[in-house]
Amino acid sequence: MANLLELNNVSKTYSHGIIKKDSTVALRDISLTLREDEPSILTVAGESGSGKTTLAMLLLGFITPTTGQIIYRGKDISKLRGQEKLAFRREVQAVFQDPFAVFNPFYTVDHLLTVPIKKFKLAKSKAEARDKMDEALTAVGLRPEDIIGRFPHQLSGGQRQRINVARALLLKPRLLIADEPVSMVDASLRASILETLRNLQRDHGVSIIYITHDLTTAYHIAKSIIVLYRGGVMEAGDVETVIKNPQHPYTRLLIDSIPWPNLEQRWGAQKIITREAGAVSGGCPFYSRCAKAMDRCKTPAPMYRLAPFQTASCYLYEGHEQMDAAQLSETLPV
Ligand code: SF4
Repeated sequence: MANLLELNNVSKTYSHGIIKKDSTVALRDISLTLREDEPSILTVAGESGSGKTTLAMLLLGFITPTTGQIIYRGKDISKLRGQEKLAFRREVQAVFQDPFAVFNPFYTVDHLLTVPIKKFKLAKSKAEARDKMDEALTAVGLRPEDIIGRFPHQLSGGQRQRINVARALLLKPRLLIADEPVSMVDASLRASILETLRNLQRDHGVSIIYITHDLTTAYHIAKSIIVLYRGGVMEAGDVETVIKNPQHPYTRLLIDSIPWPNLEQRWGAQKIITREAGAVSGGCPFYSRCAKAMDRCKTPAPMYRLAPFQTASCYLYEGHEQMDAAQLSETLPV
């Protein structure tokens, strides 16, 4: 069976400055495969500046890699034209962070649903369009009669985000890029939206790349995770293993800073040990903050396989089996 998506050694560098040219590496040598026959949810986690949003923009074809290729169902997405490009636009959908931004406040929310129906000619009549809207809204746990005809400001943030998911679902996508979909939604509604996304994968066969800075939500939705820092993969593997037993100093730092509910311990009582040193160009991206940095870390660390479904890019694990970037997907369970 062909792959749904392949990233082959994808890097993205932004150049800036007119007189003095400078560049920033936003994403560094990422390889990844999602299989077509096994819809999965993969979390990509990291702080701002880690390269998560660049990855989302690349996957949606909004920007092109500086090096490497992104292959969707056997075709390089930067070379898609005509009908193939239209099919890609329909099959790869996105849900973004701000559930309000996509709505036009002057139109009822149905507008957001009717536009893709018309653009992609999904219905032959108004009645069929309405049936499709009802079906998509019901699939994301909304009652169409509560939604159709309302204006965006009349709905909650959670309802608006579900409508965004319904809009994506209308197009029968194969891949959904969910970029921080619950970060602007009330905490009380997050779990139900994450459950909706999980249903899309389970019941509708949609693969999801879930992009987040929040490891607690990653834990609830995905089976596998990639932790990014300054554009590079720091740790990856089975979400349960990586979150319960993080090995990379950066993942540990992220986990330690989560305010897990623990009545015995006040949040912030536990000191997070880091150091701030000068960055080392070309070395480990985490060098300047790592409490365990060594001279060795001034050159980039390879990926080491620590367990069947856990890998970390860190010299602390020298001696373990070394992997190259292309083997990353072997450590991501579906
Ligand atoms: Fe720290 Fe060195 Fe590991 Fe980087 S490679 S995380 S600097 S110990």
